[in-house]
Amino acid sequence: MKKLLYIALALSINSIYAQNIRNNPNSNHGNKFEQLGTILPDANTYRTASGAPGHQYWQQRADYKIDVELNENDYTISGTEYVTYYNNSPDELLYLWFQLDENEHDPKSDNNSFDGSTMRSKTINEGDLAAYDRAKMLEGYGVQIFEVADQKGKAVPYTINQTMMRVDLPTPLKPKQKVIIKIRWKYQMPERMRIGGRGGRECFADGSCIFTVTQWFPRLCVYSDYQGWNNKQFTGRGEFALTFGNYEVKMTVPADHIIAATGECQNYKEVLTVEQYQRYLKAKNSDEPIEIVTREEALKSVANKNTTEKKTWHYKANNVRDFAWGSSRKFVWDAMRVNIEGKNIMAMSYYGEEAYALYRKYSTKTVAHTLRVYSKFTIPYPYPVAISVEASNGMEYPMIAFNYGRTEKDGTYSDRTKYGMISVIIHEVGHNFFPMIINSDERQWSWMDEGLNTFCQFLAEQEFDNNYPSSRGPAHKIVDYMRMPADQQEPIMTNSENIIQFGNNAYGKPATALNILRETIMGRELFDYAFKEYARRWAFKHPTPADFFRTMEDASGIDLDWFWRGWFFDIEPVDISLDSVKVFRFEKGKPVPEKLDTISYKPRKEDTFKHISMIRNKEEGIEFYVDKDTSLRDYYYYNDQRYDTSSVTEIRSKKVTTLSDEEMKNYENLYAYELHFSNKGGLVMPIIIEWTYEDGTKEIERINAYIWRKNENNVSKVFLKNKKVIGILIDPYKETADIDESNNSFPKVVSENRIELYKRSGRVARGQSTGGNPMQRARNNQ
Ligand SMILES: [Zn+2]
Repeated sequence: MKKLLYIALALSINSIYAQNIRNNPNSNHGNKFEQLGTILPDANTYRTASGAPGHQYWQQRADYKIDVELNENDYTISGTEYVTYYNNSPDELLYLWFQLDENEHDPKSDNNSFDGSTMRSKTINEGDLAAYDRAKMLEGYGVQIFEVADQKGKAVPYTINQTMMRVDLPTPLKPKQKVIIKIRWKYQMPERMRIGGRGGRECFADGSCIFTVTQWFPRLCVYSDYQGWNNKQFTGRGEFALTFGNYEVKMTVPADHIIAATGECQNYKEVLTVEQYQRYLKAKNSDEPIEIVTREEALKSVANKNTTEKKTWHYKANNVRDFAWGSSRKFVWDAMRVNIEGKNIMAMSYYGEEAYALYRKYSTKTVAHTLRVYSKFTIPYPYPVAISVEASNGMEYPMIAFNYGRTEKDGTYSDRTKYGMISVIIHEVGHNFFPMIINSDERQWSWMDEGLNTFCQFLAEQEFDNNYPSSRGPAHKIVDYMRMPADQQEPIMTNSENIIQFGNNAYGKPATALNILRETIMGRELFDYAFKEYARRWAFKHPTPADFFRTMEDASGIDLDWFWRGWFFDIEPVDISLDSVKVFRFEKGKPVPEKLDTISYKPRKEDTFKHISMIRNKEEGIEFYVDKDTSLRDYYYYNDQRYDTSSVTEIRSKKVTTLSDEEMKNYENLYAYELHFSNKGGLVMPIIIEWTYEDGTKEIERINAYIWRKNENNVSKVFLKNKKVIGILIDPYKETADIDESNNSFPKVVSENRIELYKRSGRVARGQSTGGNPMQRARNNQ
């Protein structure tokens, strides 16, 4: 609740100053470079002003022992849990808050009614009915609570408020004390593809289902120093915040099911056949995926479907914030080891026949690749396993993620499906780091997990293949969004529930902003150190946005308050315009005006474009994951020769009037180029200039964003050159997300970007959702 006030305050401050500038065209100085000051919460003994946990930092702990049964005949989950809650806070607690996420599907839940709708005139379909009368569709869903009791079995009073349950403790829980609560519950698993939801069942024509059992047991809310209890309701959107703890879970399922779950199985010898167990031991020492449950075995299980016998799988997981599992007789299971800084981790995949041809080939190897790259940029992966389960939508939990990736019926697939799947696996497995380990609060701040994770996903994709078709990360990919009218945008610092363009706001824009920080503002060395420091400081803890902003500055020595203001607290786009160019030549100690001769200038063709991360990864000698199967020639064309940055020279200007004749000789015949820029977009950024000389060579100069600090609207700057310039291009690698490239060059180059093409073809570009296809939509909601 306190947080909400803080966003409101932050937004009002920002909109006031934004308005001041916009309403007063004569103002040349807003506060784009002022320190964040009171926009960030005060530092205290729990969280320092440097962005690290303070000397009295504390967090709660919740350990769970759960027995659960999946009944395939009526699709129900019923369980009993004992949760031990440790009060490490300095506060006395009278009650505990639990999350009952499946009550999102309770017909009485508010979230069935708070989306607006309009009547459609076409023949009514199920989707329309779901919008008009969702409660009817949800009859029979929601969580039934049978018992809440203390350790001795004595009933404890509780109150259910939609997806939240308050348990009133028999006696106040004092600091350093713990309490054990028993809860018995049951719910019907939703048909995930029809009514939505993070978990549920998906049943196939072969008569068997894949069960994704997620957000399935009453889970403790986070009680923290910065917001007390986070008992903000679950609506299906804002994911969740959870407390770390140890889990012991026993899952009873039909005997022919295979289970994938958070943690390590304690009784493989009992639940697997002798052959399967042998293959499991073999996979533990294999650098290639080995099928532990083979395709033939899975197909046989489906054919002989047996729902009467049961088996119990016993799992343990330590220091995790949640526990999820998948169960099906359809599962093929393969695994291999991956070495992360001296420790062997099991990378594993579980999938049905529908995904076999893709998953068998790529899933487990992608899991391993993800762990390697993320570990390099954050902390070494600390858990013993990492799992990818094929399910039709993507969602992440500790050590286990559910990701789509199905082939056509004949087992073939397009490059689009293949790379879509690899990206989703990297993304969902990557969530192990953000927010499963670096445990931010997703229900408040989607960008802290989705944005940071999408940024690391981009890094992992770019190390998978130097030509990888990343859809989020490169600056130019966010331009269509940044160009949208103001009423279709909101700052990244917006609560998850209120975001309109979810994929762009919570995934694309923050990922891009971080990539720009790394490549353009801070440089790789300073950025990578600071980012790793953030991960190190907050691993297995609960960071807030301020902790991230502060750490990035604290560890790099770069004042980034202007960057956070522009990219995270505001919605203004980048549009730096090169308005005019004046040319002079020094003759006998005097600058003489000259005409800029651009006749022989040849602007670069669009199809030779290669973004900055690709270029630098290649220069750095990154060892890419090698995929020999498919070429990506369709996506990018290369011309390495065009981007020769080796000829960078630096000439500093001096006061001409004080020079002696002897000194003046050094300047004789030099050219002086006076460039006039205006900031049309509002968002301040560095000015990156590519000079093309008469002799065909090029030079890149980078001017720090601080050039705008005294006048945020207009700046001009003189550059001395000893060669004649024939062309000037601003932001040649498209690093700054400049929304209008038509004013970036001299002479003017007519470039037709996508939006302009749309406009010409009469289509409405502004305001259209990016989720045009199901794959994209699925990706937008991971
Ligand atoms: Zn995600």
